[in-house]
Amino acid sequence: MAAISFSEVTKAYADGQLAVNKLDLDIADGEFLVLVGPSGCGKSTALRMIAGLETVTGGTLSIGGEVANDLSPRERNVAMIFQSYALYPHLSVAENVGFALKVRGEKREVIDEKVRAAGAMLELDKLMSRRPGQLSGGQRQRVAMGRAIVREPAAFLMDEPLSNLDARLRGQMRAEIARLQRESGVTTVYVTHDQVEAMTMGDRVAVMNGGVLQQLAPPRELYDRPINLFVATFIGAPPINLLPGRLHGNGQGLEMTLPGLALPLPATLLADRPGLAARAEREVVVGIRPENLFVTDDEAGTLTAIVAFQEDLGASLLVHVDLVQPGVSETQNRTGLDELDESQPAGISTRMRITAPVSARRKVGDLVRVGIQADCLHFFDPASQLAIR
Ligand code: ADP
Repeated sequence: MAAISFSEVTKAYADGQLAVNKLDLDIADGEFLVLVGPSGCGKSTALRMIAGLETVTGGTLSIGGEVANDLSPRERNVAMIFQSYALYPHLSVAENVGFALKVRGEKREVIDEKVRAAGAMLELDKLMSRRPGQLSGGQRQRVAMGRAIVREPAAFLMDEPLSNLDARLRGQMRAEIARLQRESGVTTVYVTHDQVEAMTMGDRVAVMNGGVLQQLAPPRELYDRPINLFVATFIGAPPINLLPGRLHGNGQGLEMTLPGLALPLPATLLADRPGLAARAEREVVVGIRPENLFVTDDEAGTLTAIVAFQEDLGASLLVHVDLVQPGVSETQNRTGLDELDESQPAGISTRMRITAPVSARRKVGDLVRVGIQADCLHFFDPASQLAIR
């Protein structure tokens, strides 16, 4: 087991592509760290540098306190688990799990004991004599993990290990991998583009974009305190709503103005985000998570919107509404909002998503009032895209 540390680590590929740009990241011994971001953000490259499958072109990578930039993959003693499990089809589960130990020349009894212990931990005991072809996808995944565990590596490196599985099994394996990691206590770096995996599995999550680390934090903190618009929109499904707004000093404190609404900001929110005070009379981007909006009959302190469509998610309803803009005719409000939005920066829109109880279902085209949980608002600077704290 080992800590892993990136210090200003850069990877420029031979063709000049800068895949990872000055990455600073300290992964603690025993930690489960998730690297997440959209396709092409550099997360696999970062993982492959730990494995020694890509060279480091700048900065220092350490494993277990030792500089690893020039170590061969073998010298690093890390175990990589890919999405294709790469099991030997002609070997049994037990032989697959023990394969690396046999190659290493371990004694028969040592191999048997380690394979037995890994099998028990992974609940593979009853499947030991089967071939990979006789296993389900989830069981194969466990064999692949068993094979890595018996090597007692300094770290597990996993690159989208669940992306070949169907949705139900993926959910099961998420929980299983997280449990196994906690039981084995082996430092684990897990790469995914799936923010649900990131939110549910990691002790901490590193969000990357364009080769640059955006934010490193426990999942809850990423969700509650995203550092910029990228993290705010990437983390959370259904995604956060972003509205064009303005802050205005009202004597005692601040109010937020959105199209058709001026809403005083709660004192607790202002105390938590002292940076807001300096933004009076300025434009801001207002972020509101779908669960912090609600459909109501109340006219005071609410937005007016038109129901565009509704998605029944079973346990809840996702209501998509278009904000009614004052000074815009009703016809235009009903038909022209998407065109009006073209003037806004990407992702900022007057189309909003509301998570509602199924009993809140309305008819498409209905005018509704939308309430806001004002203590859960997020504010961003439209130019720098950074959260205002
Ligand atoms: P991710 O895992 O986040 O999808 P990658 O780390 O695979 O991203 O890739 C990061 C960037 O580096 C991408 O722009 C990708 O096209 C580029 N890249 C990856 N591998 C190579 C390579 N061998 N040569 C040149 N560019 C590469």
